[in-house]
Amino acid sequence: MLKVTPLGGLGQIGLNSMVVEHGRERLLIDCGLMFPRADQLGVDIVVPDFRALRDDPDAFKAIVLTHAHEDHVGAIPWLIREHAVPIYGTPYTLALVKHRLDEAGLRADLREIGPGASFQLGAFDVEPVNVTHSVPDAVGLVIKTPSGTLVHSGDFKLDLSPIDGRLTDLGRLGELAEGGIDLLLSDSTNAEVEGWVPSESLVKETFERLFTAAPNRVVVAQFGSHLHRVQHLLWLAQKLSRRVVLSGRSLQRNCELARSVGRLVVPDGLLTSMEEAGKLPREQVLIISTGAQAEVRSGLTWLISDEPGPLRLDPGDLVVLSARAIPGNEPNIALLLNKLYLRGVKVVTPSQEPGVHVSGHASRQEQRRLIETVKPRAFVPIHGELKHLHRHRQVATDAGIAEERTLIATNGDVMGVDRHGLHALGRAPVGMLPMRREALAPVSEASLQERLQLAQAGLVIAVVVMQQGGGKILHAPTTSAQGLAGEEQSALTLAAEGAQLALKELSEAVRGDDERVREAMTRGVRRVFKQLFGSRPMIHAVVVRV
Ligand SMILES: [Zn+2]
Ligand SMILES: [Zn+2]
Repeated sequence: MLKVTPLGGLGQIGLNSMVVEHGRERLLIDCGLMFPRADQLGVDIVVPDFRALRDDPDAFKAIVLTHAHEDHVGAIPWLIREHAVPIYGTPYTLALVKHRLDEAGLRADLREIGPGASFQLGAFDVEPVNVTHSVPDAVGLVIKTPSGTLVHSGDFKLDLSPIDGRLTDLGRLGELAEGGIDLLLSDSTNAEVEGWVPSESLVKETFERLFTAAPNRVVVAQFGSHLHRVQHLLWLAQKLSRRVVLSGRSLQRNCELARSVGRLVVPDGLLTSMEEAGKLPREQVLIISTGAQAEVRSGLTWLISDEPGPLRLDPGDLVVLSARAIPGNEPNIALLLNKLYLRGVKVVTPSQEPGVHVSGHASRQEQRRLIETVKPRAFVPIHGELKHLHRHRQVATDAGIAEERTLIATNGDVMGVDRHGLHALGRAPVGMLPMRREALAPVSEASLQERLQLAQAGLVIAVVVMQQGGGKILHAPTTSAQGLAGEEQSALTLAAEGAQLALKELSEAVRGDDERVREAMTRGVRRVFKQLFGSRPMIHAVVVRV
């Protein structure tokens, strides 16, 4: 029997990862992360608990990737340390994965795949099928086994005039469907949205209209991974004689990677630096920037910062927010908008001008079209909160799939597929592990509790013993804390060292001044807690003179 077990991504947005199993052979489709909740202090990423793969490590043969989004590839450095299996992906996807692995000082066996070229992995015959999404080189997967065939949509939409001309290959899926598809697993992200998502070409036209009428600088703030949008912006800039600055590290890196594998074409002499752009006439500048979610220290926040820099926006410049707000970010985006208006900048958002952003995920009519093309014997909605999964199932039953041949599964549900349909086979262990990016072990629940307590009601006391009337440190700072009792005690040692370091930055003469000593210790301790936990506990510094 063909078995499918989601380890993440069902009942949530992000963390997409799914085990496909036949006999004693397992593949993992995608290996994604999600970003932590605001109350998970000092946590950079959340990765799936891969314990389910540990009971039979030899059975785990490979990871097959659908596309280069963090919620599909971001947990690879974490998983690959334990299971050194080959990783299959399209050129741009592998370029991003390799970059992530290099950053972590890891190596892996990376194997390139492409649409139309099926490959054999033990009992699995895997064929990547081109899909349109918001990142280049995205594929869905058709996986044939002796006991059944499944289609995994990846993240997809059915843009009929995509920027790179690569449509979701419904033709090929239709051909494959003639052999019979036992199970369709399909992207539910936009299952609450009626109709079709407009084409990225609409965004292209909207930009051209807006920029042609813009007398000064133009800034487009967008996701750092949306390279189709970068591509048409580059062409438009060339047409309108504007030089382009890429602002934001993730955007620059993604562009470099995409260029290296031929997935982004940059006209010669078009790109310039922020310094050079600052000297150009304002009507000759287009800045493509990260920061549409009002992330701190992103490209856009620098452009309106009061701190000095090579280029700051002036009244009359145009800022286009070319992204939807990710749920939870709305308050920060509202603050960002206020700052932009205060600066006298003109602002265009998707709510004023819907054509400045379109989603990368299929809406209901497109989801239905895929189901009608694949004609699966059974259907399981994936990639979404439960509300999305339920709504997507409705699309499937409307399209004629009998309800008993659909299943709302959540992470850990083991499903069996054969010619007779879909069977619930029990549960596999699953979970979500909060991590520091560079760490080898997850942050424990107890630690998170302590950090939260310290941030909300805690007090850190730092004491230093100094010479009476002088600057000599007689006893290095010690720290104690209320609200920090268990696993996080070691933070206090680091905080004491932080205080000592800050004191050493003062001259001995200045250290004669109690006020300056207290300030320095507070600064030193604060730095440590900010870095470790991303929090600002109350700090009380005490100077004892003897
Ligand atoms: Zn995606
Ligand atoms: Zn996704």
